Amino acid sequence: MMLEELGLQPVWKLREREREVPGVAAMGWEELGKTISSCTICPLHKGRNKAVVGAGNPHADWLFIGEAPGAEEDRTGEPFVGQAGKLLDNMLAAIGLSRKSNVYIANTVKCRPPGNRNPEPSEMSACRPYLERQIELVGPKLIVILGRIAAQSVLDSDASIASLRGKRHACRNVPAIVTYHPAYLLRNPEDKAKAWEDLCFARRFMKEL
Ligand code: SF4
Repeated sequence: MMLEELGLQPVWKLREREREVPGVAAMGWEELGKTISSCTICPLHKGRNKAVVGAGNPHADWLFIGEAPGAEEDRTGEPFVGQAGKLLDNMLAAIGLSRKSNVYIANTVKCRPPGNRNPEPSEMSACRPYLERQIELVGPKLIVILGRIAAQSVLDSDASIASLRGKRHACRNVPAIVTYHPAYLLRNPEDKAKAWEDLCFARRFMKEL
């Protein structure tokens, strides 16, 4: 279904990112992974142990986008490991999804910010060519954005997560919704019910696509 038929406008215009990352628009998964792993475009590469490219089905209908790798992710090179990763896997399972079959997971930045601070807008902007290429390569039907930092970056918005939840958005030409980041839910378990509402909303939205 076309975005216009869903009442959505694409937020990301197709950006020419060749200047920042030469050749990124033509890269396949292997080259993209190698390029990310050796990338020095933003300062986050200085503290990197392993870049975290993403994980899951590279042609999934569902794409989940988080914020940034943490310490465990930096050590293993896998996104969403540890307690937040377990919670995300449980959230996925609750609506019949799994990173082993029908989901791809990526972050707005591929290298861990020092001390687990939030990534800076400039760092997310620098890393965006990679995320854009991942979106193109996966070709998802629906994007689920995890948390305020990722949502504001991906949707080019300064709105609060409260105002972004429960609404239909679009990222490039792909429909998108926003929910809480699992790490936030670990700190604020009283909001898990709202996250469940968001997942049910996402599931209903997906059925229309
Ligand atoms: Fe490159 Fe992204 Fe890592 Fe920055 S966060 S060094 S842009 S891969």
